[in-house]
Amino acid sequence: MATITDSITIAAPQVRHTQCFIDGKWVDASSGKTFETLNPATEEVIAEVAEGDAADIDAAVKAARRAFDGGPWRTMDARDRGALIYKLAELIEQEKEALAALETLDNGKPIKDALNADLPLVIDCLKYYAGWADKIQGATIPIRGDYFCYTRREPVGVVGQIIPWNFPMLMTAWKWGPALASGCTIVMKPAEQTPLTCLRMAQLAKEAGIPDGVINVVPGFGPTAGGSLVAHPGVDKIAFTGEHTTAQIIMKSAADTMKRVTFELGGKSPNVVFADADLDAAIAGSHFGLYFNQGQCCTAGSRVFVEDSIYDEFCKRVAGMNHDRKLGNPLDMATEQGPQVDQRQMEKILSYVDLGKQQGAKLLSGGNRFGDKGFYVEPTLFADVTDDMKIATDEIFGPVMSVLRFKDQDEIIQRANNTFYGLAAAVWTQDVKKAHRFAAEVRAGTVWVNCYDVFDTAAPFGGFKMSGLGRELGAAGLDAYLENKTVTVNL
Ligand code: NAD
Repeated sequence: MATITDSITIAAPQVRHTQCFIDGKWVDASSGKTFETLNPATEEVIAEVAEGDAADIDAAVKAARRAFDGGPWRTMDARDRGALIYKLAELIEQEKEALAALETLDNGKPIKDALNADLPLVIDCLKYYAGWADKIQGATIPIRGDYFCYTRREPVGVVGQIIPWNFPMLMTAWKWGPALASGCTIVMKPAEQTPLTCLRMAQLAKEAGIPDGVINVVPGFGPTAGGSLVAHPGVDKIAFTGEHTTAQIIMKSAADTMKRVTFELGGKSPNVVFADADLDAAIAGSHFGLYFNQGQCCTAGSRVFVEDSIYDEFCKRVAGMNHDRKLGNPLDMATEQGPQVDQRQMEKILSYVDLGKQQGAKLLSGGNRFGDKGFYVEPTLFADVTDDMKIATDEIFGPVMSVLRFKDQDEIIQRANNTFYGLAAAVWTQDVKKAHRFAAEVRAGTVWVNCYDVFDTAAPFGGFKMSGLGRELGAAGLDAYLENKTVTVNL
């Protein structure tokens, strides 16, 4: 079984108390209340965090409104705005080790991943959108009559941004980059499990010279702080990442003030391995595509369809990789898998393991809590999974792979699409026709061919069906923070 590692450990920064960041200042929650954030590896309290509620959200929205309407951000020379976003990226780069350690402490992800996966994407995202700030252009339109008609692209206004706990820094960058580049001002509510890196990034934004009120961060709980942000009449748009059931609540509430909404939601992504695939690559990629980040990825390839003739070998080799996987202190550079984010997630995952066993799936590895301290779950593998089992239909958001068997190409598209989610999909084959046919017919916002979880800031990302609304990243991500204004001049 996996072992606790004992090599070099990166020291974690000490954080004991944090406040809300409103109008460029650190302030306690108006209620004076705080909540605890835990280190999921040790279950110890890391920090007391200000518990923002409706009053704090109101103060933050007013600050963001002042910064938008009369403030310098929207009207600033676009090139200067871009330079400030770039400066923020540079400050993050300068303290990337400390930020990675803080992320690991709060979220539990291995520091190796925080440093080598999350941080480079965070920095790249901010630099990419810094470059867009002075390239936002309208069009001239040849309308009938003696008129000159053109469009202006203008920022949506004050945006409320609500993010989950699985990639706290990266989700912050994905939200801030395009909003800042377009000239919007921001009130962000980080996830209650992982508020620390987002708060640190707000401080770095101030140090970079981004004016007060442009970025405000109010930590707190979903229904209170989050709900107040969604309902606030001073907010023009909500950008949300999280569960589809939360998005449904948000969409209903946002309708009252006709807010723009963009949603990045969950998935149950099919990962299809044909017998003609490069099996070494397919096994390594499928393993990474599910177990990376403790299985807490919206894109997790959690329904792995494997062609009959290679099914047994595939399962045997994945089980072997799980056996060798290093679980342990996530601050240790050798650790491959850390704890789940909290006790609730750990218990939810273990309850799905029970369901898998009850419904007749064959447990090939893992299935238990790992150790008795920290929220660790062993890397778990189920074979003989059928399409109707709960472990094949529900988003588990943990290190549980379900392997399903298939016999021919014709059945696989229909089975892959048999879900209300549509976030991502992957196919492993050396046959270019099979690959393109799958890519065209699968109902998902992202399709990977012979690779998994390849992200680039320039490539749009988002979901079909219940997996989302709108796109993040790339030019499409910027569009989501812009209004089109049509101007017609009588000549
Ligand atoms: P969640 O929906 O429970 O919480 C997400 C955020 O919403 C948190 O900040 C929470 O406090 C807030 N929230 C909760 N209730 C609210 C309410 N009534 N009003 C306003 N805000 C509210 O999701 P989670 O469990 O934190 O995250 C896991 C989910 O996120 C998974 O479904 C995962 O697939 C999804 N996710 C999607 C993407 C993507 O890009 N598609 C990325 C990461 C995570």
